[in-house]
Amino acid sequence: VRNYIDTVLSMPWHEKSEDNYDLEHAESVLNADHFGLEHVKERVIEFLAVRSLTQNLPDASGGNAILCLVGPPGVGKTSLGQSVARAMGREFVRVSLGGVRDEAEIRGHRRTYIGAYPGRIISALKNAGTTNPVVLLDEIDKLSSDYRGDPASALLEVLDPEQNAFFVDHFLDMPYDLSDVLFLTTSNQLSGIPLPLLDRLEVIEIGGYTEDEKIGIARNHLLPKQLEAHGLPEDSLQISDRMWTEILRGHTREAGVRNLERQIATLCRKAAHEIVRDDRRDEDEDGKVIRLTQKRLEDFLGPKRYGYDQQFGEAMIGVAIGLGKTSIGGEIIPVEVATMPGSGKLTITGQAGDVMRESAQAALSYARSRAEQLGIAPDFQEKIDIHIHLPEGATPKDGPSAGITMATALISAIARRPVDHSIAMTGEITLRGRVLPIGGLKEKTLAAHRNGIRTVIAPSENERDMIKIPEKVQKDMTFIWVENMDQVVNTTLLADDIELSLPDSAAAEDTTIDLPLEDAHPDLPADASFE
Ligand code: ADP
Repeated sequence: VRNYIDTVLSMPWHEKSEDNYDLEHAESVLNADHFGLEHVKERVIEFLAVRSLTQNLPDASGGNAILCLVGPPGVGKTSLGQSVARAMGREFVRVSLGGVRDEAEIRGHRRTYIGAYPGRIISALKNAGTTNPVVLLDEIDKLSSDYRGDPASALLEVLDPEQNAFFVDHFLDMPYDLSDVLFLTTSNQLSGIPLPLLDRLEVIEIGGYTEDEKIGIARNHLLPKQLEAHGLPEDSLQISDRMWTEILRGHTREAGVRNLERQIATLCRKAAHEIVRDDRRDEDEDGKVIRLTQKRLEDFLGPKRYGYDQQFGEAMIGVAIGLGKTSIGGEIIPVEVATMPGSGKLTITGQAGDVMRESAQAALSYARSRAEQLGIAPDFQEKIDIHIHLPEGATPKDGPSAGITMATALISAIARRPVDHSIAMTGEITLRGRVLPIGGLKEKTLAAHRNGIRTVIAPSENERDMIKIPEKVQKDMTFIWVENMDQVVNTTLLADDIELSLPDSAAAEDTTIDLPLEDAHPDLPADASFE
């Protein structure tokens, strides 16, 4: 009983902070805290503007939209939430939903239970001390993947402006008005958010950062922040553009900047050590400036962790460079194919999901159906076993977009023609060899760019996604838009003593192809053919 009374008395019931809807102030706060992210900032400002007009109209849906920031880790979603609170002059509380699997975590336990406590929403408000804080619900995609249904539907009630004026926590056991709270949500992936929740959210996607943006963020935000945290005076560690690039390419590989921040912290620590030890100083006026040189960088951070431009340098038989999208942003996914004497078995390893397996089957069937044009023996499968492997085998991979990569690696292995490794590719393949559009072109292109690849093959239907790609990257990259697999083969496979007859895409669709079906469909007669 005492615990209950304590909770009730410590809840904010009427305390409210004064909202600041000065848009110029908000803009300057957002700009001071974050580099780039223009479209996100613009959206936040618009949101505040609408909110300032509708604050006294409880039913106006424009001001009640709940923003959901979606993007890979370390792109600044959480810190944007903090900035919004700072810009509006509200308290900020973060509620992490990762791993929440119980409705009681949201809505509280009934007091009849021993050790009952209020849910996270009420606890957050208690911590904030006002009735109108900014509450950041972090990682709402992790909520659903652990446990379907209940915590998500409890959240629905919290987020629904029609209902949340009378939110009842089981522990508190009386209605609490949440309608003044500004809820923001974050998520790594759109696909993880339960649909009814997604329906109520206004999604703002933050892709990854380009190299230039990362340097800007590091120079203007991360370094000053870390210097301060380590008690070092401003400018006591000087890093040139060239060294920034060196750090980015040699020591980090990510879509966001979290690892970069960690590397900068290491640099600051080492610099602090050096300054305190008081030797090896540069003789500048203030005498305490450390300039990062190549040698120092190696001393401080150790040898390079990632090779740049090397891994994918030379052409190889049976290995093609694919592009994939994961929850941590775009990634380079090489596909390896080995053939050995055997009897036509197809093995796929590397944690490939069902869709990817089927896509490998489709790639193989395509290769078989066009064996002649591809310059490979029509009966190749009778004499060899094929093994497709997706390295970094512990990471699960799925999705159809590796289709053309698998087909290219396969044809390369069978025809013994090397694949040009300056080209990365992405696209779904059909049995006819048509290339279908994919998602996440921006993330994939940034990944290729980050890895020093300058040519990307992508489905022609994805050309419309070009506007999402930063201009600087667009300038560096060459895109080859393809409609069918023959174009891919012609562009990527080297040593072409065999010139492919390249049918136009329409013709490719209309041709009737005899598919040897006995492996894939044992029930069908061997001479069945598909139109
Ligand atoms: P997320 O929530 O997206 O995983 P965080 O908000 O924790 O990422 O960001 C990680 C760190 O990177 C924070 O210290 C944040 O300030 C910094 N950061 C990310 N993006 C930017 C940016 N555009 N400008 C300045 N700092 C940034």
